[in-house]
Amino acid sequence: MRGQCLCGAVAFEIDCERLKLYQCHCSLCRRQSGAACNAATIVPGERFRWLQGSNRTSSWAKPSGFRTDFCATCGSPVPNSLRGGAYQWVPAGLLEETTDAQVVAQLCWASRASWDVSTAPGLLHDAVPENFGAFINALL
Ligand SMILES: [Zn+2]
Ligand SMILES: [Zn+2]
Repeated sequence: MRGQCLCGAVAFEIDCERLKLYQCHCSLCRRQSGAACNAATIVPGERFRWLQGSNRTSSWAKPSGFRTDFCATCGSPVPNSLRGGAYQWVPAGLLEETTDAQVVAQLCWASRASWDVSTAPGLLHDAVPENFGAFINALL
């Protein structure tokens, strides 16, 4: 499955049979996405490949560790690596053939915006799951 940023400078591919997504409603993801929540998946590093433009991205990180990578040309959020490259965070909106995709979880539901009236498919978590490793495994 392929994905690309708005301008097309950054493109990638993931090996994924059934795409499971989560949405995070925290204040950081709201600012990062500009929307009520982001939508993303996490795949093992070996199932992710840059097709082009990995050198066309910029990165910004909070001291707390929250990090966002984005296309330096168009500003689209782009994939970034988690846990030293063991996993890759992939923003769902960049992906092309997503007919089989399913949202399986909502994170930081308790801190969603007051105007956030998402219908919220999937399991509701009031915050980021404490056992994030188990959460990642449930997406695979
Ligand atoms: Zn771009
Ligand atoms: Zn978040």
